[in-house]
Amino acid sequence: MRKSIPALALILLAFGVQAAPTTHAPRNVVLVTIDGVRVQEMFGGADPAVLKYLARGAPVENTELYRRYAAPTPEAQRKKIMPFLWGTLLQHGWIAGDPARGSHVEITNRFHTSYPGYAEILTGHAQDQIIIDNKKQRQPQTTVLEFVRREAKLPKESVAAFTSWDLFEQIAEHEPGTVTINAGFARYASSDPALRALDVAQDEAVSWEDARHDYFTGQFALDYLKRQHPRLLYVSFNDTDDLAHDGRYELVLNALTHADHFLEQLWNWLQSQPQYRDNTTLIITADHGRGKLPTHWGQHDEDIEAAKNIWLAIIGPDTVHRGEVEGGATLYQNQIAATIAHEFGLDYSKQNPDAGKPIPLRGE
Ligand SMILES: [Zn+2]
Repeated sequence: MRKSIPALALILLAFGVQAAPTTHAPRNVVLVTIDGVRVQEMFGGADPAVLKYLARGAPVENTELYRRYAAPTPEAQRKKIMPFLWGTLLQHGWIAGDPARGSHVEITNRFHTSYPGYAEILTGHAQDQIIIDNKKQRQPQTTVLEFVRREAKLPKESVAAFTSWDLFEQIAEHEPGTVTINAGFARYASSDPALRALDVAQDEAVSWEDARHDYFTGQFALDYLKRQHPRLLYVSFNDTDDLAHDGRYELVLNALTHADHFLEQLWNWLQSQPQYRDNTTLIITADHGRGKLPTHWGQHDEDIEAAKNIWLAIIGPDTVHRGEVEGGATLYQNQIAATIAHEFGLDYSKQNPDAGKPIPLRGE
C-alpha cells in the first residue's frame, strides 16, 4: 500500500499546516541484518515448494512442517513466522522486494555471499576486486559507521555493532578501534547479573565455529542500547544462514521467528524512550538471498542468480509509505549506507562518490 504524497500535501494545506521541510532533525538509526533470508520466506512464510521437496514423495499434508506453517495465503503464512513485523512494525514503515508485487531489491556485488554483501551495505558499493569471499581481511574502505561517527562528531560509544559472526571485527571498520564492536564470542560486560550469566553461557553453548547464537547477540545489543544510548546501532544476526547451509529448514523458520521476537523487544523499548520514540529509523535487510528452486533453497553463491534478490524494510517516524511496496524502481543494497548517513543529515557521497544514492523516505 502506498500513500499518495500530493494528496497528503493537499490535506495539510487545507488545514493550514505547513508541509514538513525537506531538512529534518538528526535522528537515531538502528540497522538489523538477518543473514541470507530469502524473499520466499520473508514474503510468503514456509515455501510450499520447499515443504513438498522436504516431504520426499510422501503427502506433504502429513508432515509436521505443513501442519505448523501452511495457511491459505502467503500473507497468513508469513504472519506465522514473523507476527510482529507483519502485524505491528509495518504499520510504521515499509518493506520492499516482493517479486509477486513487482517490487525488487538487489545486491550489486557479483558473489552473493556474506562479506561482499556486508561490505556493500556498510560502504555503499560492491568491492568485487577485493572482497571476493569470506576470508578474514580488513575492510578496505571507511564504513558508514565510521563516517557517521566522524562527521556527526559522536563518541565511540555512540556508534556500535553487535554481531553474531566474528568476522565483523574486520568488516565493521576500516580503522581498527573507531567504533564499538562486539562480534562473535567477544565478552560482554554488564552490571546486570542476568547479562553476566549470558556472557558466560555464550562460551558454553554449542554453536558454530565462527559465530555465537543470535540470542546472545540480540540480548547484549538490547542491554547496550539501554545503558549507552547509541545514536547508530548495528545488530547482525547469523543463525538463519548457518542453519540453511545445514539444510535445517524448520530451524531456519524458527530462527526467523526469534529475529521477530528481537524486533519486538527492540521496537517496544525504542518507543518507550523519549530519546528514541518517533525519532529512530529502523532498517532491516539481508546480506544476500539464496536459490529459488526447492532443491537450492539452502545455497547461495556466484552461480545462483536468485541469490541477488533481497528485501529491505525501513521503519521510521516519517517514512511516507506503509506496508508493502508495490512496483516502483528497483532498490539496491549499495543505497543503504547513504540512506543511513542521510538520516544523520550527512552526505555519504563525500566519503564515497561511487556509493548508491540515499533512498528517499519522505518523498524528498
Ligand atoms: Zn552463507
